[in-house]
Amino acid sequence: MDIKREIVPFVQEIFHTSEFIPLHEPKFIGNEKHYVLDAIESTFVSSVGQYVNDFEEKIKTYTKSSSVVVTSSGSNALHAALYLAGVGKDQFVITPSLTFVSACNCIKQLGAEPIFADINYETLGLCPKSVESFLTEHASINKSGKCIHKNSGRVISAILPMHTFGHPVDLSGLVALANKWNLTLVEDAAESLGSLYKGNHTGTYGRFGIISFNGNKIMTTGGGGAILSKVTDDGNRVRHITSTARVNHAYEVAHDEYGFNYRMPNINAALGCAQIEKIDQFVQLKRALALQYERFFDGSECQFFKEPKECRSNYWLNAILCHDRDHQQSLLNITNDLGVMTRPPWNPMHTLPMYNECMRTDLSITQDVYHRLVNLPSSVTLAA
Ligand SMILES: *Cc1c(COP(=O)(O)O)cnc(C)c1O
Repeated sequence: MDIKREIVPFVQEIFHTSEFIPLHEPKFIGNEKHYVLDAIESTFVSSVGQYVNDFEEKIKTYTKSSSVVVTSSGSNALHAALYLAGVGKDQFVITPSLTFVSACNCIKQLGAEPIFADINYETLGLCPKSVESFLTEHASINKSGKCIHKNSGRVISAILPMHTFGHPVDLSGLVALANKWNLTLVEDAAESLGSLYKGNHTGTYGRFGIISFNGNKIMTTGGGGAILSKVTDDGNRVRHITSTARVNHAYEVAHDEYGFNYRMPNINAALGCAQIEKIDQFVQLKRALALQYERFFDGSECQFFKEPKECRSNYWLNAILCHDRDHQQSLLNITNDLGVMTRPPWNPMHTLPMYNECMRTDLSITQDVYHRLVNLPSSVTLAA
């Protein structure tokens, strides 16, 4: 069979429509209108309010995290987390090249630079072996315990893996590396709310983990994000720094350090409170959709990407690997022409003009995946 053409009717049947099918759209099937209206009627639509507190509490319970602070976007969450992880001027942060551009932009905003390491085929995320071989060749630990890039003498301060399309990265391997090389681990879990690595939520292994609630993620607050902290003291610092470091006082407006205005507005948190009530159902339905895709592609010339071992993935975006770039391109053209939206991964960061001079390891797997991977429509589907 010609899988490129078969995909279209298959996807149309799953989503019960012959109209345009987007890659991912939000589902509002619970208390969204009720809570948002309530926030409006309370007049607390902005940076403080009960929904903000409730939403943080709900994410904390769901992820079993020590501390959760919600923010105005996932990108802002990432910026604040890297700032509190101590990333600063002239330092380096190790990150994959196959990621969303926000990661690199946040590193740059802090005056630091990314170093790109390769991914692996098991997770589509940062490969501990690739990172380790870079460090062994180019880095050493100085007297005060810092990881130093030998040629430049600059500090490598953090490692920022990402859970690609919701699939957990090899956290055991990366935690061991972070410990050995004294790097702060920050997890970009923007896409992976609901995904488990060895039974624990992604975003809870690093000193900080960030989540995004942008409109295309598994659940949304319109725009928004969250910072999970492993240690409660860090969580308090996150809360302070993302609230412009404002000093608590009945009427005085004072700030005791440099900070950011990054808190999530109450009206967005109202939407979040309704959405997170459905997270178990969303994860379950997305996993059921993934299983349908897996069966469909079984035995075809496309390889469906399955969750890594010892993981439960939220299957945020389903993905297949075509056998070569031509196959990928013709599949993308045919499906998009016929109203079924599909997409290749992000252009790798090392190919973008503002990051193409950054240091990197061999990136053959990144390049190969970029040339073969296609994401498929992955919205939560409700029973017809
Ligand atoms: C969505 C996303 C972000 C950014 O989140 P926003 O809320 O859109 O700012 C960061 N990293 C990854 C991997 C993402 O997918």
